[in-house]
Amino acid sequence: MACLRCGACCDPVVLRASKRLIRSEQQYASDDFILRHWRRVSKEEAFRRRPILRQFHVPGRFYYDCRWFDRATRLCAAYALRPPICRAFPENLRCEGRPLRLRSYPQCGFNEAPLPDRLAVSS
Ligand code: SF4
Ligand code: SF4
Repeated sequence: MACLRCGACCDPVVLRASKRLIRSEQQYASDDFILRHWRRVSKEEAFRRRPILRQFHVPGRFYYDCRWFDRATRLCAAYALRPPICRAFPENLRCEGRPLRLRSYPQCGFNEAPLPDRLAVSS
């Protein structure tokens, strides 16, 4: 398991919180970073960039651009300064006791079990 540096988790960033909610409940170090450096993008824009997001969209999911994502290299340009929420990915999406299976990120190197999409791509 390793990061393949595809940039999918940053382009766009997926979060179950609007900026309004974050502002009203601001309590984590990540919150201030998000408010300052992330910009909301529309669902349609997010789906255009990564069509699989349409398939797994649920109400309450929001999409963001991070000003520190370098589109040319597809890497984080603030790696040492990235906030806890970025450092936690993808462990923050793990369901306890189950292998990590990231439905919205089938190509992610941290998936612990083969997904049908991954097999299809590698065959
Ligand atoms: S989606 Fe996974 S493999 Fe791609 S950059 Fe993010 S952590 Fe790395
Ligand atoms: S700070 Fe870095 S890791 Fe976090 S969303 Fe921005 S580009 Fe991605």
